[in-house]
Amino acid sequence: MTKKQRVAVLGSGIAGLSAAWIFSKHHEVCLYEKASKLGLGQKGVDISTREGNKRIDVPIRVFSSIYYPKLHALCQYLNVPLRYLNNDSSFSDHMGRSYFRYFNLSLKDRTFTYILPKLRFLPWMTIFLPDYFKLKKDLSGKTYRINFTDKVFGDYLEARRYSLQFKKEFLIPVFSAIATCSEKEILNFPANMILDLLSVFLETSPMKRWTGGTTALETALAETIQQIKFETVAHQIRQLEHGIEIRDSQGNISVYDQVIIGTQANQAAKLIENIPELSHDKSLLELIPYAQTEMMVHQDEDVMPRNKKDWAAVNYQLTEQHDLPKASIWINRSEPDFKGIDTQYFQTLNPEKDYRGAIKKVKFSRPICNLESFEAMKEIRHRQLSDKQRKVHFVGSYLADKLPLLENGVTSAMEVGEKFGIPLEF
Ligand SMILES: Cc1cc2nc3c(=O)[nH]c(=O)nc-3n(C[C@H](O)[C@H](O)[C@H](O)COP(=O)(O)OP(=O)(O)OC[C@H]3O[C@@H](n4cnc5c(N)ncnc54)[C@H](O)[C@@H]3O)c2cc1C
Repeated sequence: MTKKQRVAVLGSGIAGLSAAWIFSKHHEVCLYEKASKLGLGQKGVDISTREGNKRIDVPIRVFSSIYYPKLHALCQYLNVPLRYLNNDSSFSDHMGRSYFRYFNLSLKDRTFTYILPKLRFLPWMTIFLPDYFKLKKDLSGKTYRINFTDKVFGDYLEARRYSLQFKKEFLIPVFSAIATCSEKEILNFPANMILDLLSVFLETSPMKRWTGGTTALETALAETIQQIKFETVAHQIRQLEHGIEIRDSQGNISVYDQVIIGTQANQAAKLIENIPELSHDKSLLELIPYAQTEMMVHQDEDVMPRNKKDWAAVNYQLTEQHDLPKASIWINRSEPDFKGIDTQYFQTLNPEKDYRGAIKKVKFSRPICNLESFEAMKEIRHRQLSDKQRKVHFVGSYLADKLPLLENGVTSAMEVGEKFGIPLEF
């Protein structure tokens, strides 16, 4: 693609926005977004406090330089300032009684996790520690990568005979919260996908965020994009002899040389249903399942551990009502902008009811992985990267090897850029 071309990118999540940024350096890009804001910051909320106006990103997204090398390099290239985030964690039962808590200290791109010896955590620790060291040993050699190819996370847990407590009260709540899916679904994720992330988890790479929140990254990426159409839904795509036609919710019909679809996989499948040449891609996209999840921003301290000394930045709580993970982020502890503010703010994943001081409830749908969808994802990637004639491409957090997180969104966009020979300076 040496000549300057007209490129439409549909969807401005991390994947679509990264693709639009990459292509805008050499081509004429029009980015379509159905909402009135760019994807990452769409669901955030502005609040006014006695200390001034603040913004809470919903969800608060975090990353590390080890598991997210491409996103990290992109942020550095764009000079988007990053800062460490406290992600110390507490774990409590459904009554809010804590059974475990760890702290972390981040210094010079290393983080140190430590546990304070507390008598009341002792019973759980005696179960936790042997399993923890067994897991650490398993992950250090990376032999799991061979032994657990084509196996799911549940197979790994079964094979290694971890205690029920270690699985049910630690590993499963943490990973189902990261993937925002049910406990049953996380057990069906490809084993290596979870174990790779776990091995990074046990490293000393601290969690980071953008100073200024998602807006900082979005502003930097959007700067070079030639045109952004907000509140514009791409409805239908058709392949014409001289390009790809897009009909949108504003009644416009536009023709582009290339189209990059950065929506969720199920939405992408619908968008291409009138292109017979892509019928196999459509059936592959339909194999990527989505889970619904909810997040509430509120001021209700009852979601936190009963003992205030156990409050952490991230607070996991077991529930009796459902098999969805419940985790509450204590914003005043995790977000430096909220330090010292009198009112306490929380963000709870999978709230069980409307909490006191509810500010916003947001719904998300999130791709989940299993062995079938993993194979489908690999085939979509292979098909689009090997077919030189194709004019429709897909990007998204569902479309790379790692867990469906921000890094995959950037990776998928970079891969499509590379296919078109667009050099990246980082
Ligand atoms: C609760 C929660 C917490 C998370 N925390 C983290 C975290 O800490 N770290 C991390 O790495 N990841 C996290 N993630 C995952 C991460 O947010 C997603 O993987 C990522 O944002 C997905 O990006 P995407 O570009 O693939 O898709 P999306 O963000 O879904 O973007 C798709 C965009 O397309 C637009 N769109 C859809 N259809 C059309 C259409 N027809 N026309 C025009 N526009 C359209 C949508 O409005 C949307 O803006 C979290 C997710 C959730 C739900």
